[in-house]
Amino acid sequence: MIIKDKLILLVEDNEDVQELNKSMLEDEGFVVNTAMTLSEAKISIQQRKPDLIVLDIGLPDGNGLEFLRKFRKLSKIPVLLLTGYSEDTDVIKGYENGCNDYLPKPYTFGVLLARLKSLLQSAEQIPERIAHGSLYLDVQSGRAFVNGNDLLLAQKEFFLLLYFIQNEDVIMTAEHLYKKVWGQPMNKNNQAIKKTISRLRNSLEDSGYTIVVTRGKGYVFERV
Ligand code: CA
Repeated sequence: MIIKDKLILLVEDNEDVQELNKSMLEDEGFVVNTAMTLSEAKISIQQRKPDLIVLDIGLPDGNGLEFLRKFRKLSKIPVLLLTGYSEDTDVIKGYENGCNDYLPKPYTFGVLLARLKSLLQSAEQIPERIAHGSLYLDVQSGRAFVNGNDLLLAQKEFFLLLYFIQNEDVIMTAEHLYKKVWGQPMNKNNQAIKKTISRLRNSLEDSGYTIVVTRGKGYVFERV
């Protein structure tokens, strides 16, 4: 996951807590907006949708849980409740109202950071099934179909296709693709990627999509 540019909205009325979390998260590479009240939080969300919200419960103009319950009907943005309310019943209420995680105060920054990263990662996860033109991908079983016919792709071919679909019309270098699909640097081993792309291109023959090689630049997945 790339942390850089992920926007976190901190909703907290304790200035010390707010300032500390803001500066620590910024040090980690996050972009941070802050709100001291629920009404400030609403304005902030309208102005720019955050990737994640850290929400206090006791706030000067209302209860964070009430806010969360209404917000959940409108948005799936992950919310972590960071609160002094730490009884089991409070935690249960938090989840009932739609929080994705719950961290009682006092807490350590390391734990907060780990939880935020984990929430952002889950939010980024790809769906179980992807329909894209004539292509249909069952991500869990790693199978891809064209008009209902199983392409019988090898694992790397499947992941490559998945990555191409997510980046249609984007020229990507062999090095970049290799790193994404093989999970390690390509170094000089470019035969594997060439072969995999060539096999995948053949499999896509009747799909309406192809992979075009742009000499010196890389590969692009596009409609025929
Ligand atoms: Ca508070």
